[in-house]
Amino acid sequence: MPIKPKLRNEVTSRGVKKDKVYNNVIVNAADLDRDSITSKKVLCPCCYEYVFKSWPLGWDSHASYVCEGLNSGRKSDRDSKQEKIDKRKKEFKKRFGKLFGKNRKNRTKLKERVARELKKVAIKGGTVNYNKLASTMKLSPVTKNNWSNHELKYVFDVLDEEDYLKKRPFLTCIVVKKVDQYKIPSLGFWKMIKKYRGKTIDSEDRIKYFSLERVKLKKYWRKNG
Ligand SMILES: [Zn+2]
Repeated sequence: MPIKPKLRNEVTSRGVKKDKVYNNVIVNAADLDRDSITSKKVLCPCCYEYVFKSWPLGWDSHASYVCEGLNSGRKSDRDSKQEKIDKRKKEFKKRFGKLFGKNRKNRTKLKERVARELKKVAIKGGTVNYNKLASTMKLSPVTKNNWSNHELKYVFDVLDEEDYLKKRPFLTCIVVKKVDQYKIPSLGFWKMIKKYRGKTIDSEDRIKYFSLERVKLKKYWRKNG
């Protein structure tokens, strides 16, 4: 969607706290906060060229490869491709961090929503994959490169700690990725088990461990949910 230069001037005027909407697109995201723009159509607050169809979905690929408003990771830089991507994403997050809901209150709400969703799935004995969960929670898709900064990662850390402290089976065990024909939790889960239970589970034992954990989880939340 081409954005006219006239619009661009209006967008950059400061001190506007109310959302400005043109053709159904919020064009002054930089003046707003996460709650006013999440899941809405939003003009990129950095380049004013790109429209996010459901903020913040897709922000990381836009920042990594497309956004012209960023100063880092220029073509002329001598960094490797991956370094450029990392720098670009970092700059985007730094400049527009408030649009990602970094404050605790938002994350607490998100954590409660994730926990509710996972309990629902656990009681049915099911599993959910990372991206399905991210999309249900209206978060950007999970990729190999963004997991360490992803909202879900923060939420999982908190949930795991809570389950550990309350001596419950781990809810995050039902969030799986596909490995060959089996779906099991990813590396982060096994590291977490090591951290909280002091156990290293070898790859060949993971499917069994995972099945037992799921059974415990289902039983627990059927009784206490
Ligand atoms: Zn942009």
